[in-house]
Amino acid sequence: MSAVRMDGKALSAKVRGSILAETEELKKKGVTPGLAVVIVGNDPASEIYVRNKERACEQCGFYSEKYALPEETSQEELLGLIAQLNESPQISGILCQMPVPKHISEQAVIDAIDPRKDVDAFHPVNVGKIMVGNFDFVPCTPAGVMELLDEYQIDPMGKECVVVGRSNIVGKPMAMLLLHRHGTVTICHSRTQDLAEVCRRADILVAAVGKAGFITPDMVKEGAVVIDVGINRNAEGKVCGDVAPEVMDKASYMTPVPGGAGPMTITMLMKNTLKAAKLQHNL
Ligand code: NAP
Repeated sequence: MSAVRMDGKALSAKVRGSILAETEELKKKGVTPGLAVVIVGNDPASEIYVRNKERACEQCGFYSEKYALPEETSQEELLGLIAQLNESPQISGILCQMPVPKHISEQAVIDAIDPRKDVDAFHPVNVGKIMVGNFDFVPCTPAGVMELLDEYQIDPMGKECVVVGRSNIVGKPMAMLLLHRHGTVTICHSRTQDLAEVCRRADILVAAVGKAGFITPDMVKEGAVVIDVGINRNAEGKVCGDVAPEVMDKASYMTPVPGGAGPMTITMLMKNTLKAAKLQHNL
């Protein structure tokens, strides 16, 4: 039996529609959500992400500003721009596309963003809020996964949830969100022993590894829900996930790549930006 494909594209369109409707209501009260997107250098993948974020802003009725800075921009200049955006009344959310060039400290950039405008939820204040379970913004990729689970009425409560990957942007916050929803959560990483055995315990398995086809059918319990966060390119240059396609035959639900978790990420960025605008205007 083949798994139900969890359609992130369709859900994304639905959520963007409801964000647009809410934005129209906000505009009647004189508030337009605004997102500033900053990109430093010319990484082709980052340029695609930034373009997609601009398009999403249009679809949601937001105001947006894009700052494309040259590779040689100094950290001081970048932090200066962020300080300006922190003060700008038109800007509800600030996003600096990562990675930044090597001479700039990623953490310094994250720390410089006003936590109330930190729509990526990477600032230590927001990370701490996620830890204690009282948060305004949720990192976009894990937030998108939770929306997908809800859409397909998959409740993590009491379930064995295994997250493979412990990055600050995906693995760790993903584990926290599942924990807040009462999942029994295990986080795996490159030093985990008997990874296949741990994965086989999972009722909900989330792969955020960054290796094409890393999760194979022998690592998956029959009927598990499999969430593939990976975005990789195979030898032919085709976009593929961290989960081998044959897992479809073993899982009960699975996110395809592309079209699963990916489209949800930018939509969650829009959701955080809308929320930021509302919070900043006490709405
Ligand atoms: P990352 O920072 O490189 O983290 C990868 C994680 O996988 C690390 O925790 C690493 O363990 C673990 N890992 C690597 N090899 C492993 C192995 N052999 N066994 C077990 N664990 C292993 O990557 P990331 O930023 O979290 O991204 C993960 C994937 O998601 C990438 O494909 C990325 O492109 C994709 N992604 C997608 C979206 C989206 O919009 N859907 C957003 C962000 C990222 P250690 O910590 O021990 O090194």
